[in-house]
Amino acid sequence: MVKLGKLVDEIRIPGGHARAFQIRKSQFVTITDLEGEQVGDFIAFNKSNLDEKLSPTHTRTSLLSVSVSVGDLLRSNYRSPMFEVVDDTVGSHDMLLAMCDEWRYLVDYGVKEHRNCMANFEEALKPYGIARQALPDPFNVFQHTKICSDGSLQQLRGVSKPGDYIRLRSLMDVIGAVSACPMDLNPIGGAKISDLSVKIND
Ligand SMILES: [Zn+2]
Repeated sequence: MVKLGKLVDEIRIPGGHARAFQIRKSQFVTITDLEGEQVGDFIAFNKSNLDEKLSPTHTRTSLLSVSVSVGDLLRSNYRSPMFEVVDDTVGSHDMLLAMCDEWRYLVDYGVKEHRNCMANFEEALKPYGIARQALPDPFNVFQHTKICSDGSLQQLRGVSKPGDYIRLRSLMDVIGAVSACPMDLNPIGGAKISDLSVKIND
């Protein structure tokens, strides 16, 4: 386990909402599931070049895997290492599925005007000049997606317990954001939508 330095920022992400934050190179970001079974969509941008973003597809290609383990590097769309996974008490995260948006709820569930991760990120990242069109695919922490032998996917209830976390070391200065996903129409978010915590340490 890594030795953390001083706590420099602590952000509570209200269930169903998103918050943005900055992480300096070499700092650690810890995303904690406070009550359990809550999916957090995580996205990140290189602070000095917003066109460079955390990229699940490039990470999968580099790892030749759809899952991550401690020691793995999460890559940007420029294939640069952006984060290293340094600790993970869950071991179940999703790098396959799109973030939810208003069309997800409307097209797949017939529900209008549902809160969604895309609108959450748009709101949280506005102060940084990052628009909806610039949002990359998310790294869905604590999301439990099962790949079946026939290639189909199952969206299952999360396996994270209260206090479970994933910790990443940042390998560049980034603007990050986490959305405590408001999905309450399938099992991924467990029994209820709840808060997440983000801590940034030297
Ligand atoms: Zn969502």
